[in-house]
Amino acid sequence: MTVKNVTKVVVVGGGTAGWMAAASLSKLIGPNIDVCVVESDEIGTVGVGEATIPTMMTLHQLLKIDEREFMAAVQGTFKLGINFENWNKIGDSYMHAFGRTGQDCWAGGFQHFWSRGKQLGISEEYGRYSASYVAAKAGKFAALSDQSLSYAFHMNATLYAKFLRKMAEQHGCERIEGKITQVDCHSENGYIRSVTLESGRTIEGDLFVDCSGFRGLLIDETLDTEYEDWSNWLPCDSAVAVQTESVGEPIPYTRAIARDAGWQWRIPLQSRVGNGMVFCSKFLSDDEAIETLLNNVEGEPLTKPRIIKFRTGQRKQHWNKNCIALGLASGFVEPLESTSIHLIQRGIIRLLQMFPHEGVRQPDVVEFNRQMSDEFVFVRDFIVMHYHLTQRDDTPFWRHCQSMPIPDGLRHRLDLFKQTGRVFQEAGDVFAENNWVQVMLGQGLMPEQYHPIVDSMSDAELNHFLKGLTGNVDQMVNQLPSHQEFISNYCSTNSM
Ligand SMILES: Cc1cc2nc3c(=O)[nH]c(=O)nc-3n(C[C@H](O)[C@H](O)[C@H](O)COP(=O)(O)OP(=O)(O)OC[C@H]3O[C@@H](n4cnc5c(N)ncnc54)[C@H](O)[C@@H]3O)c2cc1C
Repeated sequence: MTVKNVTKVVVVGGGTAGWMAAASLSKLIGPNIDVCVVESDEIGTVGVGEATIPTMMTLHQLLKIDEREFMAAVQGTFKLGINFENWNKIGDSYMHAFGRTGQDCWAGGFQHFWSRGKQLGISEEYGRYSASYVAAKAGKFAALSDQSLSYAFHMNATLYAKFLRKMAEQHGCERIEGKITQVDCHSENGYIRSVTLESGRTIEGDLFVDCSGFRGLLIDETLDTEYEDWSNWLPCDSAVAVQTESVGEPIPYTRAIARDAGWQWRIPLQSRVGNGMVFCSKFLSDDEAIETLLNNVEGEPLTKPRIIKFRTGQRKQHWNKNCIALGLASGFVEPLESTSIHLIQRGIIRLLQMFPHEGVRQPDVVEFNRQMSDEFVFVRDFIVMHYHLTQRDDTPFWRHCQSMPIPDGLRHRLDLFKQTGRVFQEAGDVFAENNWVQVMLGQGLMPEQYHPIVDSMSDAELNHFLKGLTGNVDQMVNQLPSHQEFISNYCSTNSM
């Protein structure tokens, strides 16, 4: 044990990560500790990160955030999945929809029934058995109390940070504006003692949460924590982002459209659309990326295109001495599956569970780092899969993706699925069986076998079963209002 009685927490950075951490710490354990956030208006935030996954609700439930209030504050829309276009072949499209598809049984997931049905020519497209998919394609949505429609959010990241800041300040968190120019450590153990601002003000703390973005002011520049580089598996290293006017009603899903040397996102908000393109600088220059993006947006640009450079990977230690890195400071797997905010949330919940009230204990640090690393690795593998399984060979970038090495864990998963149709969700993996299956099938990886339990159904019974599922999905989706209609009644920004 090296630090006694953690009572003062300094959060460095006021982006999404900083304010998520500050709101959570001050609201949930605030009475026992002092929390402050240091942020620099001059440096600003990365300002992207507008699509989420359903797990975000976990933190919102902990913080007792009212969904309507949150959605109105962040000009939010609802997200039922991600539509992948041109990923397998040009002209192809599939959706990674949230929630269940079809019906599983003890022996395995619905894909086994679907595969047999496909052999017999009676299965429809896999997505037809998912209520989220069918509702998304129909532009329909409702937040149903029985949670039969699994969903996440699209939101304005800057407004989200503001929303959380208000909550943190209401719970006693102090916001300190200023640029940190110096960080001092205790000479005996190298723990961080204080940060000093350009103005000369020094802020001391017992525990430091590094949310300073890609630079990792504390975890990297001060503590020199090693970075595990994953660019050999994920070649994209750049992005360009631009906001545009909305040209129609918001769709209830994110679009991820593969381009010649990367992919483009479209995230509809209530008042505008967030657009961007993630690309590989070895195959596309910044100017070419800007041109490609601007040629492929719908509304008038509201901002200038902004280039963001990144290095895919993670810190070898997310928690080092008395510093815990969250958000971009802790690592980054590109935004293809909107997982960064989820990983921030996981880090926060873990920190709350292991909060070192009575001092930093090394076993906690080791456990925290093991769990964080596992989660990052599963996300990485899930994303590598999209690139690896492409059948596109029309550009040097896609040919490179096809021939790239892949991590051993992913290789095993793909082999297992291809030969048996089986997928198992491992501890620490945010993606469940049906998430993996949708992307594998969507990317053209068909299982060679299905579980023999399916053969206990006659062909006619299987047909009846499959038809019953699509019938139920249609019945449910038919009753839903349009996405726009639901937003107008439930959480319109205009009604604030
Ligand atoms: C192209 C792209 C697209 C993305 N899309 C998604 C998505 O769809 N979904 C998703 O979940 N995530 C996405 N992300 C990730 C998401 O944007 C980040 O996880 C999230 O914004 C958190 O950022 P942050 O708070 O760690 O860093 P930042 O937003 O960079 O904040 C850093 C903070 O540190 C402060 N700071 C830095 N240095 C100093 C200093 N010297 N003194 C004082 N303050 C300092 C800054 O002022 C700022 O407040 C995306 C990321 C990128 C790059």
